Amino acid sequence: MHKVMWNVFLAVIMVVAAAGAHAGQVDRLYVIDCGWAHLADQSLWSPGVNAGVPIDFSDDCYLIHHSSEGYLLWDTGFTDRLAAAPDGVTNPALGQTSHRTQTLVAALAALGVKPADVRYVAISHVHPDHAGNVGAFPDATLIIQKAEWDYAMTLPQKPFGPDRKAMQIEGDKDLMGDGSLVILSTPGHTPGHQSLLVHLEKTGDVVLSGDAVHFQSNWDNRRVPGFNSDKAQSTASMEKIAGLLAQNHAQLWINHDKPSSDARRHAPEFYQ
Ligand SMILES: [Zn+2]
Repeated sequence: MHKVMWNVFLAVIMVVAAAGAHAGQVDRLYVIDCGWAHLADQSLWSPGVNAGVPIDFSDDCYLIHHSSEGYLLWDTGFTDRLAAAPDGVTNPALGQTSHRTQTLVAALAALGVKPADVRYVAISHVHPDHAGNVGAFPDATLIIQKAEWDYAMTLPQKPFGPDRKAMQIEGDKDLMGDGSLVILSTPGHTPGHQSLLVHLEKTGDVVLSGDAVHFQSNWDNRRVPGFNSDKAQSTASMEKIAGLLAQNHAQLWINHDKPSSDARRHAPEFYQ
């Protein structure tokens, strides 16, 4: 190609790329308290380590506003029905007592957001502390890995029906086409587990963990819980996230790590 033509070509590419980069952005990310759990024995999540030592897990949801696509909810927490049980509900098999102080629907209402305003509900996986309120958003498109959907359909208590409006994806996906919200396939904890990379203008890049890891010391030591679908996949998913954190200078927000959740600004405050 002639040198002048080549320069014109490059200039056009740069303009197109710049336009793409400004297609939209995440302008607000709210951290919402979606419950918490007291666990009698953390070694169920860290085999052989801290046997018999209790731990508390946070359980956060994240309401994300995209400038051109509207609201996306990442994870839905424990079922809102839990808020009616003041002493929580105990699962003896896990030695876990789960609590909810307010419903997700009420937390959204306090922000002036109705369930019908939520356009997308993306869930990391179908465990009940993440998928508990998918049914409260019947008009939203559920964003889920195909492998997780298939797994959900095998469960005796399905988190949603086979007719649920959904976008089933396979692997990583740049959801809005502008790099602001990128689904990361991170299987292992469940067959189609996923995490979410969020690009924020001021805060920088944040990876919302889902349950790719449960708490900080498990992350630091790359420990895989006993309660897990595929150990090799879980280890590979943690390495994938670690590589991304280094590459993007991103923060990892570990959903169930209560000390770091407590240190974060919760709704009505938000991150930009
Ligand atoms: Zn889980």
